[in-house]
Amino acid sequence: MGRMMQGAMEDWADMLRAYGMKATPQRLAVAGRVLGRPRHVTPQGVLDELRREYPALSLNTVYQTLQRFAAHGLLRELEAGGRVWFDSRTEPHDHAICSVCHRIEDVLAAPESVPPALQGWRIESESRVWRGVCPSCRRAGG
Ligand SMILES: [Zn+2]
Ligand SMILES: [Zn+2]
Repeated sequence: MGRMMQGAMEDWADMLRAYGMKATPQRLAVAGRVLGRPRHVTPQGVLDELRREYPALSLNTVYQTLQRFAAHGLLRELEAGGRVWFDSRTEPHDHAICSVCHRIEDVLAAPESVPPALQGWRIESESRVWRGVCPSCRRAGG
């Protein structure tokens, strides 16, 4: 493990403790995978990435860790393509999901005005999921 990685791990350990979470090696590994850069992950995807290094890691532990990060505002939970995703970009934005390769991408656009049907509402968040076939799947004949 490089010096920079080590430093980041210590920062995440501090952060976990600040949120009242024990800084277990498994939670640190999950933090290292999902925080600090824009990513969309599923619990199963994180488990697959970490399984070799942490054979005892369970899907439940990954899921609970991601949910606790989300509860503290470090991740945003969203549903797209029939799956639950955790997004490390927490400001409001839309998503596009490819129905062939299931890749998920951020759609960063200027927020639109609230539809007339929502007059009188105090809107807290809004998120759309665009579905389609991504350019590389289209090139592959999808
Ligand atoms: Zn695709
Ligand atoms: Zn996103």
